[in-house]
Amino acid sequence: MSNDTEPAQVSSVAAESHAGACDAEMQLLEGAVRSLPYHVVKELLSVGVCARCVLRLFGIEEHIYCHSSFSQSMLGSILEEETSFKSEVEFQFCSVCLGVLQFSYCDDGEETVVKKESAKDMALSIAELVKQEGHQIDGFSLEVSVPPLILENESSLLSHMKKKYESEPWFQERLLSKCHSVKDVLKFAITKPLETLLGVKASASSFRIRLTYTHKRASKKVQNSVERNQECKRRKTGTENALHNVNDESVIADKDCSGYSTIETNSVTGIFSNGVQDQETSEHFESPIEKVSEPCHLVYVCCRTHIYLCGRYLKYSRNVSQTRWIIDEERMGEASVEEIIGSNILPICQGDNYKFHAAGREDIDVRMLGSGRPFLLEIQNARQVPSELIVKEMESKINGLENKSVGVKNLKVVGSQGWALMHEGEAEKQKQYCALVWISRPLEDEDMQTISLLNDMKILQRTPIRVLHRRSPLER
Ligand SMILES: [Zn+2]
Repeated sequence: MSNDTEPAQVSSVAAESHAGACDAEMQLLEGAVRSLPYHVVKELLSVGVCARCVLRLFGIEEHIYCHSSFSQSMLGSILEEETSFKSEVEFQFCSVCLGVLQFSYCDDGEETVVKKESAKDMALSIAELVKQEGHQIDGFSLEVSVPPLILENESSLLSHMKKKYESEPWFQERLLSKCHSVKDVLKFAITKPLETLLGVKASASSFRIRLTYTHKRASKKVQNSVERNQECKRRKTGTENALHNVNDESVIADKDCSGYSTIETNSVTGIFSNGVQDQETSEHFESPIEKVSEPCHLVYVCCRTHIYLCGRYLKYSRNVSQTRWIIDEERMGEASVEEIIGSNILPICQGDNYKFHAAGREDIDVRMLGSGRPFLLEIQNARQVPSELIVKEMESKINGLENKSVGVKNLKVVGSQGWALMHEGEAEKQKQYCALVWISRPLEDEDMQTISLLNDMKILQRTPIRVLHRRSPLER
């Protein structure tokens, strides 16, 4: 973690990075910078817009951000050199991206400001987390969530620029709508170094790396807009409107894997499309964006979306329930199929937790024989997806357990299609019953003949005695 960097160190890092970047890359960057309208670049720099934001606002193509050798100070100095702009005011954090594209952030927990010099350094801390958590991965998907304030800043700045420069020839050509979002530029910048560090490619993987940026100032400003917006709507329609979930801090703070969300983003878009944007912009026309003294707060987590193992289970014991069965803190039966299977598989996948689902059920005192009952085991945040060989080992481990109460077969790792497989099994099920019958007189040949002539009988079942206490006695 780098702390505040002395100016002398910054320039030495910049010089090193200059040397690190190859000539072709440097030419590419200088070419891109030369294509920009300098007077506008100067204005952007003077209101504290960072180098990467300047480039992205002008729609400079994505490959520029991918070069991890382009350090923060180097991009800044090239822009300043080319446009002969001398920064008078010291802006620490970009007034549009709030430091996100300067790789500066407030550390989770420690509340210290972290400043990474390059995308590579940023990627390095993320890769460390992945390694620390012990994930074995074959790919990763990167998710970034930024506070609404960033979109708000960008929108204000763009409308300001539109009003001021619309008539200039570069404007049409550069079409500010082509600008890349902060999220995308951050992804362009750190994906490549992350791929190198983790030794895998970014893909639509079940393994996710999620960066969640939030900013203190965000809540208040959006809240104001929302309130104004609500008032506005109420006046128009006379009804309460439904923007109630905007900027829900619990949503932002949620570290769980299951999809949270773009609620903030959506809500901001909603606000802007409702016309508050223009109002906002005209109020701050002279200085469309405010200086920020604090960067965003960053939380980064990695997790794997659930993996599923499906198979069929057999139950040989009349004292093992299908799922954990506890009444008044007292366990019914000696164990459960759920726990026997789950507790043997979970540690091998190094997951956080498991859930057991089965196609139908049987009573505790009923065995499950024959081809077995289909089940699905959901492993949450597995660090390791077991190979075919390991799955076979899991199967033999469970089947070789000392008390032989439960067995498994056809165990395999499946995607979410496991659900479909299990429901199919449920629909197709055929039951075989074996019954022992006592009769009051000896069986005669005639009886045997009558019985063997019976075909396709319809069987009526009365409500079983064991459930009579809660269900009425009927033929079912
Ligand atoms: Zn920026």
